[in-house]
Amino acid sequence: MSLIKKNLRNIYPIFYNKLFSQIIKKFNFKKPLRVLIFHSIKDTEKFNRLIKALKRNWHIITPNEFFHLLDNNIEVSKPSLLITFDDGFKNNLKILSILDNYSISALFFICPGLVELESKNLLFPLFSKKQFRLKSNYEEIKLLNWDDLRFIQSKGHSIGNHSSFHYQVNRLLIKELQEDVNLSKNLLLKNLEFNKSFDSFSYPFGGVNHINLSSLKYLSKTFKYVFSGIRGNNNCSRSKIIFRDAVSLDDKIEITESLMKGCFDIYYIIKSIKLIF
Ligand SMILES: [Zn+2]
Repeated sequence: MSLIKKNLRNIYPIFYNKLFSQIIKKFNFKKPLRVLIFHSIKDTEKFNRLIKALKRNWHIITPNEFFHLLDNNIEVSKPSLLITFDDGFKNNLKILSILDNYSISALFFICPGLVELESKNLLFPLFSKKQFRLKSNYEEIKLLNWDDLRFIQSKGHSIGNHSSFHYQVNRLLIKELQEDVNLSKNLLLKNLEFNKSFDSFSYPFGGVNHINLSSLKYLSKTFKYVFSGIRGNNNCSRSKIIFRDAVSLDDKIEITESLMKGCFDIYYIIKSIKLIF
């Protein structure tokens, strides 16, 4: 990241936060309905601190409450937030007790093809092969297996689809995407208890450059809810994709709060305009 970009990422949200707090007092804006994305959680203490801070200003809703709001185009009356995890990292097990303490029901998007390999102890040999150039410690990238996921479901959380093998979807032919998605759907149904979130898909990588119109068209027909990694407010949104905010636990909480107040939304709306309308 260039120095200018880095400073913009760290300083602008703090100005925005201060300015926005003043403006919101004068105008009655639509309340936000946002979705957070977490991935691997290496520091449970930082995660705990962030959730504690968010609980002060946000009403954290369950996946089913979120779907109900979308299905019925209901405008939220207070800032509302859904918490999601992508990729199904094994270390997500460590934060279940924190979610439990705050009575949070989260949505875990997993890659059933990779889970199947992990459950059969085939993933590590695959990652060890030269072409994958494994940079991280395997423990940090170890994935949840089917037993872990059944345990997560038993704790009141939901499981969604993140494709079978985490390919960059816009590089696949629709036929290949169809095969990948069919396999992932079958593996979820075979190994886990059915939940409404099986009808939800989160784009691997999820940025504007990873989503194209043909995959979005196919996925919107195949799943009721298609989640992206593009920032934005979902309150009564007419978009085909659901916006989400990726957060870093290394950021100051003030920066995360500002991102969630939408400090970069306009930038993402302009970048993704062809996908949204
Ligand atoms: Zn992912």
